[in-house]
Amino acid sequence: MSYLVTIGLEVHCQVKTRTKMFCACETSFGGEPNTRTCPVCLGLPGALPVLNRHAIEKTLLAGLLLDCGSPEISQWDRKNYFYPDMPKNYQTTQMDSPLCLGGEVPVYDFNYPTDARKNIPRPGLKVRLNRIHLEEDVAKSTHLGTSSVIDYNRAGTPLMEIVTEPDIESSAEAFAFLRSLQMILQQGGISDADMEKGQLRCDVNISIRRRPEDPYGNRIELKNLNSISAVRRSIDYEIARQSDELAMGIDQIQSTRRWDDDRGESQLLRTKEDAHDYRYFPCPDLLPVHTAPLLEKVRPLLTERPHERAARYEQDFGVTTYDASVFAADLPLAHYFEAILGTGALNPKKTSNFLLNTLLGTLNERSIAIADSPLPAAKTAALLGLVEAGTLALSQAKEVLSILLDAPDRDPAAIAKELGFEPADAGELDALCDQVIAANPDKVAEIKAGNEKLLNWLTGQVMKASTSKPNPKQVTDLLKGKLG
Ligand code: ADP
Ligand code: MG
Ligand code: ZN
Repeated sequence: MSYLVTIGLEVHCQVKTRTKMFCACETSFGGEPNTRTCPVCLGLPGALPVLNRHAIEKTLLAGLLLDCGSPEISQWDRKNYFYPDMPKNYQTTQMDSPLCLGGEVPVYDFNYPTDARKNIPRPGLKVRLNRIHLEEDVAKSTHLGTSSVIDYNRAGTPLMEIVTEPDIESSAEAFAFLRSLQMILQQGGISDADMEKGQLRCDVNISIRRRPEDPYGNRIELKNLNSISAVRRSIDYEIARQSDELAMGIDQIQSTRRWDDDRGESQLLRTKEDAHDYRYFPCPDLLPVHTAPLLEKVRPLLTERPHERAARYEQDFGVTTYDASVFAADLPLAHYFEAILGTGALNPKKTSNFLLNTLLGTLNERSIAIADSPLPAAKTAALLGLVEAGTLALSQAKEVLSILLDAPDRDPAAIAKELGFEPADAGELDALCDQVIAANPDKVAEIKAGNEKLLNWLTGQVMKASTSKPNPKQVTDLLKGKLG
């Protein structure tokens, strides 16, 4: 028996700033524990916070990227609790009036896990957001058997909390949502959003019910998810666990569970009855934020979003929907593509094919990222120019490319010449074609009867007979013309 699944995510994402949210300590990752601290982020008595304007601006920019609105005035609250990761005994956060409200995250087909891409139940899904608020990250504690240690380097790092509406219906959708969000935040310069570095973390809320007309079931909150695969695995586990219980007539009690990725199971942490009462109240140390002037300041920084880029490439360059999505997901690749097109009159669709099918593949073989490609866009453009002029066949261009990557200063035309890839003398080629046709009457008859494959064979004969290495496509076209 399968039930209807409802999922909402709370995503914590570190905002990319040089210094912490309320003090001037650096936010860099790693380093000796407790070396980037001061009285403010250690919560020493009497220390007062100073707002980091960049963190606020980046969060507002994230809101613009995700189509959020913002209240006129946004304010700060204290969330009170007692735990060593927050020595002030409260976390400065936002409760009633966060920086961003509403919004949505478009989820692209290519964001789904590979094995789930064939059957996407809701293509074009948009996950609505409830809010984005800004807070300070806590210290990182590590438990070692009988003792615990704590590192305050992370304490006070600006942290956005992005809360979705319960719009997600499967583990694959949660996976795709996170990928899409990660991509938008990275491309928008908001966050490096590296899950391995803990810059993007998420809690999953999940419930099931029997029929669409039933109210939502009680939600279970899963904590401690630190990889995108753990998110997917934990959701599948939780759906199975809740379904088994519901089938036995057991309803869930709203509770928090911890995901153990090594054991592949979730364990009960606490139920709603033991839920903390954080006694939120407005922070007396910080002034509220007037959002309008800051929004005007960041609006010019709003860059093209992935779905806008994809639509533009399809419309202006005639690339396929799939190819457009590849460019949307890879900003350095998109920039390279546009730089090539900027050099002159190359065909955008052919350029796109060359980049995605030939250049990327060749770079991949050498483990070079497009951003680190030794070939300036102008060089690749020159090479493509030779293809478009008919001087080089694609397969020949690939050989030239291979040499060019080792000697990026060289001229593609000179390399082509060295390899003997020269346009054959038109008269000579014409004569060769006539010779080959005359020498192979049986094959010619078969081709005329519809065996197109033999045309390649015939082309090969002409290539062999030629003293230079003509463009095979040119030869095929010539033969085709002659055979009618
Ligand atoms: P809390 O801080 O108590 O966790 P929030 O309102 O910040 O509460 O977050 C609740 C999250 O749980 C949201 O992402 C929301 O979409 C999701 N959610 C709410 N109700 C349900 C439900 N019945 N099933 C699944 N998810 C839910
Ligand atoms: Mg929660
Ligand atoms: Zn500090």
